[in-house]
Amino acid sequence: MSDLNGTGNTQLQPRIGVLALQGDFAEHIHMLVLIGVNAVEIRKVEQLSEIDGLIIPGGESTTIVKLLHMFGFVDELRSHVDSGMALWGTCAGMIVIARDLADPYPTPLNLIDIGVARNYFGRQVDSFESEINIDGIEGDPLRAIFIRAPIVQNTGPDVKVIASVPAKEDGTPAQAVAVKKGRVMATSFHPELTGDTRVHTLFVELAEEARNDVNQHSAQSRSTEETPSTV
Ligand code: GLN
Repeated sequence: MSDLNGTGNTQLQPRIGVLALQGDFAEHIHMLVLIGVNAVEIRKVEQLSEIDGLIIPGGESTTIVKLLHMFGFVDELRSHVDSGMALWGTCAGMIVIARDLADPYPTPLNLIDIGVARNYFGRQVDSFESEINIDGIEGDPLRAIFIRAPIVQNTGPDVKVIASVPAKEDGTPAQAVAVKKGRVMATSFHPELTGDTRVHTLFVELAEEARNDVNQHSAQSRSTEETPSTV
């Protein structure tokens, strides 16, 4: 009998969620639609069990961290990442998942071993664009949009810097702006604000890996079992 139950196709496609508590989540969903990926807005912690990859968007990092605590996301998020779920933080999202910050607020979640400085370019210009190359992405350089952007000041072992902005004429040295360790990725710029879908495609590949990962599946079924049915 042919596979008419509709599961064949959806099981092949990784399921991507975009944290939709605050920030520019709609723009990420739009980019994913452009590459033919179904993405869901994540507002409840239970939804983490239904996805292979989560994007934490740009916005205001102190607010996002506050809301993640308020809605009980923090422990579950860590356990899904530990079990292999793919994770990508853009701009404020990078700040949220960092190990520590050069700034007093917020207290980041330590989901990737990087030290980050908020609003790094803010003193000179609040926004700028730069052409950058990202390891793992072929073709022309990407147009990267920086809006009150953070930078990566230091990285722990095994964290790969996959993109930097070149030194500027005013003497500002080259800065790391995209990093990756395993399936966790952070970018200080906003690929969702360009028409270039290549960084989203790169992330979908990480989520695909997670989709095929047995550990990630067993963690998800555990977490589904633990979810009280009366919520
Ligand atoms: N400066 C913001 C923060 O610290 C991030 C800006 C952005 O996401 N575009 O949270």
